[in-house]
Amino acid sequence: MMTTTGTDKMTSTGLSDKPRLDLIVQMLTADCSKLIDIMSQACKIRDKHFGKIITYSRKVFIPLTNVCSNDCLYCNFSRRPWEKGAFILRPDVAVELVKKWEQKFKIKEVLVCTGERPDTFAEIREKLKSWGFRNFVEYLCEFLYKVITETRYAVPHVNVGYLTIEELKQIRDYTASVGIMLEIASPRLCTDELPHKNSPSKHPKYRIDFIRACERVRIPVTTGTLIGICETIDERARTLLILHSLTMQLECIQEVIVQNYMPGPRSATRCTCCEPPTLTDMVRTIATTRLLVKPDVSVQAPPNLALGAYGVYILAGANDWGGVSPVTIDYVNPTYPWPSIRMLKKVTESLGYELRERLPVYPKFIKNSRTWLSDIVREKVHQIIDDTGLVDKKYEGE
Ligand code: SF4
Repeated sequence: MMTTTGTDKMTSTGLSDKPRLDLIVQMLTADCSKLIDIMSQACKIRDKHFGKIITYSRKVFIPLTNVCSNDCLYCNFSRRPWEKGAFILRPDVAVELVKKWEQKFKIKEVLVCTGERPDTFAEIREKLKSWGFRNFVEYLCEFLYKVITETRYAVPHVNVGYLTIEELKQIRDYTASVGIMLEIASPRLCTDELPHKNSPSKHPKYRIDFIRACERVRIPVTTGTLIGICETIDERARTLLILHSLTMQLECIQEVIVQNYMPGPRSATRCTCCEPPTLTDMVRTIATTRLLVKPDVSVQAPPNLALGAYGVYILAGANDWGGVSPVTIDYVNPTYPWPSIRMLKKVTESLGYELRERLPVYPKFIKNSRTWLSDIVREKVHQIIDDTGLVDKKYEGE
């Protein structure tokens, strides 16, 4: 009987109308026998809604610029414009990279990743002006348009941090989806010497506003939690509670990522209270997330940050590996290579599941694509899907 884990409150869909914070904390700290029970319930919900299929998105990671106005202490990606290693790519140069790789590696997703609000800095504004752009969003739209019109099958997924609703409207025509991590929804992390003290847009109110704006603009959005960034268990639980509420209230959330902080070349010395979660903590968080978020919302965990143990994430109820690139590194976690697709398939199949390729927009949204996708994106997406909304097997890469 699940009298101490909180799952006794769950309905047959795995959801409780009003999950209690103390019970979520119990799930996030469950001991062996309780955890096995939670995992088993999470797997049942995953299998009911996603079947025996685990998905991934075959992507190329394009970091248009690593210049960022925030300064999260765990970040290995961002630079100030004057720092060694800072860069910004011209849209025509960046799209040539995509074109070079898309055919060879059968890429379907272009992950467009940048620092937040790079045009806060005069150096970047001047550079953009010299290329003919009035601001960062105009520059971003130029690249997205090129991806849509100059590649055969690739569609963008945009992850550039906080945007206003007006800016979301501007990019909507050229992207299949957007991403914004809730990370840990605690204003405390924006204070003292904590990781978001110099990152105002990481305040949870901005992340939640962004997600609500996606609902209004009708853009599918990926969000999630990042654990191990100095949060308490209570803050981790509150974040999952917010993700529960958002997925229950909004239609626009297509997936929830459970990501673990892992130290990198810069973060290891800068964030003294960051600590990589144990594999057990990842399992607890994935399974609890699966039980809390709406059952038809995908739960994803990145395989490259699990140090070879990612198969366990399937046992915890995950149904998706996220974007995996056969060609580019993970610029956000540059010291953690993705497994090969061959190995991902082997691990997935060894647990009784089929590995399938998806696009950066999930089948549920493709089925309702007149609502969720612009004409130009919809036309491209429909070229390569089968009747389930996943990539047609004849277009899959190996
Ligand atoms: S994590 Fe994102 S917002 Fe924070 S410093 Fe890095 S690039 Fe900027």
